[in-house]
Amino acid sequence: MREPVVRLKRGRDRSVRRRHPWVFSGAIDSVEGEPGVGATVLVRAHDGAALGRAAWSPSSQIRLRLWTFDEHTAVDDALVCARLDDALALRRRFVLGPHTDCARLVFAEADGLPGLVVDLYADTLVVQCHSAGAERIQDTTIAHLRERTGAARVVLRSDAEVRRLEGLEPKSGVVAGPPIEGGAVRARENGLAFLVDVERGHKTGFYLDQRDSRARLRAVAKGRVLNCFSYTGGFAVAALAGGAERAISVDTSQGALELAERNVAENGVDPARHDGLKGDCFDVLRGLYDEGERFDVVVLDPPKFAPAARHVEKASRGYKDLALRALKLLSPGGLLFSFSCSGAIDRALFRGIGAQAALEAGRPLQLLGELGHPPDHPVPASFPEGEYLKGYWALAR
Ligand code: SAH
Repeated sequence: MREPVVRLKRGRDRSVRRRHPWVFSGAIDSVEGEPGVGATVLVRAHDGAALGRAAWSPSSQIRLRLWTFDEHTAVDDALVCARLDDALALRRRFVLGPHTDCARLVFAEADGLPGLVVDLYADTLVVQCHSAGAERIQDTTIAHLRERTGAARVVLRSDAEVRRLEGLEPKSGVVAGPPIEGGAVRARENGLAFLVDVERGHKTGFYLDQRDSRARLRAVAKGRVLNCFSYTGGFAVAALAGGAERAISVDTSQGALELAERNVAENGVDPARHDGLKGDCFDVLRGLYDEGERFDVVVLDPPKFAPAARHVEKASRGYKDLALRALKLLSPGGLLFSFSCSGAIDRALFRGIGAQAALEAGRPLQLLGELGHPPDHPVPASFPEGEYLKGYWALAR
């Protein structure tokens, strides 16, 4: 059977030539053959020049995701396994080790495997296929990574909303190995223990992307810490394991707060040093201020406020409002750890929002460092929008 060919409109080959891995539906001129959902197609520029091979997602705005930018490279199991090995080697080199047994093993486009995310938590692999092309390599991926890591259990978490845009049904659950006891698996990050609800938790159960920021907080935390948007208490545990005396975790999710309590206990920290507070952080920040509470560290790690570019203005107001309330709660010399995971908000804008909040709060703010992706969440130079997580830590005078 002849390989299906997708031809781009005139001039629309430019981003692919710069090795950007996506082609949107509006850039497609014609399709030869009848590629199935997720099938591999040869991509040609309008003049016929071959640009590479891609996965075909007929119902998604992102119609093509490039597997390779080389027309002489076949997209087969050997290619997938070689990419998986490269990805695994990177994590073993920079993240995994005697004190850390959890990492994002595969970060989709960043590892040349568009749409595919695989996280490791101790002996459990959690797999997410966000695109039709990723779905096609799922079985090869699972077999290969099980063999390479010796992981006993595999959990599918292909339940993200984006799958609907791809016309894919949600799929989740333990697909290999023993069932999970006690609702969570136990992972280690920089020597700290974390219980991870891989079946029902956010993402694959844990915010692996905040590893380096948690380490930074642990190194500098003192006094009283307010951990806003705490989820399962990652920042609180890190702060308490460092120099903090007390931490309060605030989240709207009761389940997340319960796991935060368990995570504190797992690390041998006196439970009296940690409080979980269920509530909306916007209200809680104001309430604590009115009650005269003050903190030495405030962490702001909210969910994505700007899912797309059109939300940037409203999201910016949200981020500024939070930073303003947090600054008011900080004692002189206190530290603000502030994050945005909105891809549409870039670093310069996010820092600008912090600067504006500092002006309005009347608190001079000194940036001490940028925070963001750890090495298991690499950002390809040719795919800057892969950098979704931005943050900084700063000192409020
Ligand atoms: N800092 C966490 C990850 C935060 S994810 C970590 O390192 O693991 C964002 C969290 O914000 C989620 O747990 C979600 O339940 C919570 N959340 C969303 N909106 C909220 C709100 N308005 N107030 C409090 N928590 C909120």
